[in-house]
Amino acid sequence: QQEKAQCEGCGVSLQTEDPKGSGYVPPSALTRERIICQRCFRIRHYNDVAPVEHHADAYMNRLTEIGGKKALVVQVVDLFDFAGSWIPGIQRHTGGNPILILANKVDLFPRSIKRQKLKEWVYRVAKELGVKPVDVVLISAEKGERIPEAAQVIEERRRGQDVYVVGTANAGKSTFINALLREYGAEGEEAVTTSPYPGTTLDAVRIPIGEGKHIVDMPGIVRQDRMSEWVAPAELKAVTPQKEMKPKGYQLNEGQTLFFGGLVRFDFREGSRQPFVCYVANSLYIHRTKLEKADELWEKQRGELLVPPADPSQLPPLKRHRFSLSGREKEDVVIPGLGWVSCGTAPAHLDVWVPEGISVQIRPAVI
Ligand code: GDP
Repeated sequence: QQEKAQCEGCGVSLQTEDPKGSGYVPPSALTRERIICQRCFRIRHYNDVAPVEHHADAYMNRLTEIGGKKALVVQVVDLFDFAGSWIPGIQRHTGGNPILILANKVDLFPRSIKRQKLKEWVYRVAKELGVKPVDVVLISAEKGERIPEAAQVIEERRRGQDVYVVGTANAGKSTFINALLREYGAEGEEAVTTSPYPGTTLDAVRIPIGEGKHIVDMPGIVRQDRMSEWVAPAELKAVTPQKEMKPKGYQLNEGQTLFFGGLVRFDFREGSRQPFVCYVANSLYIHRTKLEKADELWEKQRGELLVPPADPSQLPPLKRHRFSLSGREKEDVVIPGLGWVSCGTAPAHLDVWVPEGISVQIRPAVI
């Protein structure tokens, strides 16, 4: 009977095996009276306003169009989730065109961190990802930080050519474009077309900047591996940092576990006592316990002590990701959309448990 179950929203046959496939629902959600698939869950809860392209191939083809022109490519990247908001192969797809990186959401970073160090870090990680940017500007599109500087650098670097603004969904591209329009004095104009549902507006938005040239706002590409895929909007506010993060440090002994609400479990399996510093939303509840008690606590307390989510049935089961850090340099364990844990002052063996379909990355420490 379960095989025949259909999504109440779109009628697709439901399945519980492949979180990336169509019709996926977490097994636990099958016991509900009304079942909707993940895609419908998204559409129902997130009226993403940015134009998005769902198909990676089609998206990459659009990028390749840029490669055939002379232009400045402006890549908006989310500093809070840098690798995750990176467009894979961007340099190859956009030809030899110069790439300017706007590293957005700098307002989330503690003020104590030197902006110059952050910038150097961006250069380093970009290089590892195969790009030597012509410039990096740290911005906060939302707070309007460094928008005039970004506008000026774009003007200098474009050398009279068109400008293509690219970025993955949620990097803050629309917010930036609107901030840029205000900078150009276009306040009040409905320049960036928005649509209530993802995937309906695929045409690039063109903003004239004189002499027949344009700033072209390319559609974003949707990512599937972020926490926001699974957390309801009301609770998403509690897990997404909204302002400057106050890091929370824990001295852990091996055999200790941290729970991030009912979303992520972080086990320090083996290694000498060392600090783990968490950069997540200030309001996200972190619970420390013994590893040997972690299974039981999870079973008993998720949705109770371990929240969000208050209703854990919408989440896929946790999947374990095993890491060994050498301790030679500090590294961050990144959970896209949630934040990161800075670790690695000594060798450490870790198990990081996240809902299936969510990715976990290791990167050189940003802080
Ligand atoms: P797009 O999909 O790339 O067009 O991204 P949006 O402009 O819609 O922004 C995605 C999310 O990031 C929204 O919730 C914004 O409020 C948030 N956001 C955008 N810019 C900033 C920023 O500079 N700082 C912070 N903290 N959040 C931002």
